[in-house]
Amino acid sequence: MPLSRRDFVSGLALGALGSAGAGEARAVEPLPKQRMQAASRPIIVAAGNGYEFLEGAYQYLKGGGDTLEAAIRVVAGAEDDPEDDSVGLGGLPNEEGVVELDASCMHGPSRRAGAAGGVRNIRSMARLAREVMLHSGHVMMVGEGAERFAVARGFKREDLLTEASRKVWLLWKEAHSDWWGSGVADPRWRERLQERLRSDDGAAYYERLQRLAEDLAIDPAARTAAIHKVLFPPTGTIHCSTLAANGDMSGCTSTSGLAWKIPGRLGDSPVIGAGCYTDQDVGSVGATGSGEENLRVLGAHTIVENMRHGMTPFEAGMDALHRIARNFNNEKERLLYVDMKYYVLRKDGAYAGVSLWTGYEPGQPHTIAVHDGTPRLEKTVSLFEGASQRWPPTPAQKVAS
Ligand code: ASP
Repeated sequence: MPLSRRDFVSGLALGALGSAGAGEARAVEPLPKQRMQAASRPIIVAAGNGYEFLEGAYQYLKGGGDTLEAAIRVVAGAEDDPEDDSVGLGGLPNEEGVVELDASCMHGPSRRAGAAGGVRNIRSMARLAREVMLHSGHVMMVGEGAERFAVARGFKREDLLTEASRKVWLLWKEAHSDWWGSGVADPRWRERLQERLRSDDGAAYYERLQRLAEDLAIDPAARTAAIHKVLFPPTGTIHCSTLAANGDMSGCTSTSGLAWKIPGRLGDSPVIGAGCYTDQDVGSVGATGSGEENLRVLGAHTIVENMRHGMTPFEAGMDALHRIARNFNNEKERLLYVDMKYYVLRKDGAYAGVSLWTGYEPGQPHTIAVHDGTPRLEKTVSLFEGASQRWPPTPAQKVAS
């Protein structure tokens, strides 16, 4: 049965009825369960980079598996993939070249949550977030303490910086530093000096990066992408929300955060209510994109609450995007440097993928991965038409985008 706004509103009114004297607890009716019916078959939604891991998780969920374990299976697929430089092994590092990871999860049936942020050397961050939930009295742990907790719980320490990510980091470092890269003793110093002096010109700056990439022996096929990551520090994350046939729901988000970030920076992904929020009476939501902006609207929680009050997944997600736009007085000139995607799954199986912009690149739309018996990638619906630009603008922006 579809959820009606009137049902919700009347349910809320019930909760607000009745007056209580000073110090007395107000009687609050529980939210009637029948207002939102669970879908009769499992559904998984995820960020686009979760697509290839949907099938295994779906079969597990269909066989009666736990919803959080199913979500973690999707997320762990990306964490273990050294080619995915947005999360786990091979994630792009912070400005010191160290990979720092964040994750959060919520388990609907037990109404528990766990999160870990700014963690080094531990690849399986989604599992670590669950470990915090299951084996500590805390909800969130960060940094060294979280790493030691992981090791105590049997996680393996490993170097997460792959050769490919290390080289892109070096390229970023050399492009922005006076002292990394070749100096005046280099036999090619005159040529290099000319390149530097001309580098406020977009095309020349781009050429300089090409030259540095060549020096660093970055694979020619990977050079353009590497340069793009230097020019526009990428975000990148994976989220997954799951719904089982019995109505159980869970969600999980994992990330290496913003590339080249200041060590210690946390984005939205490890924050319960921002990067991930699940209330299985209503739905489960996750976010990827500009973490700083999502933190300022607590997007995942906002969207779940919007659905609780009767909005459809699409309306609920769009409302959160409008709030981000409002934080910039709706000035497109600034919003162009922000992007946000929400993956929204309601308890009755309705879902939506919404984004601030159509994609990061023209012709490469943001997507939501869905499996409800058939795995597929669907384009998100965006608030604004067009591709976002990465911050900061550089002389090469015109050339590279
Ligand atoms: N939201 C993540 C963060 O800001 C990055 C991303 O989703 O791409 O850390």
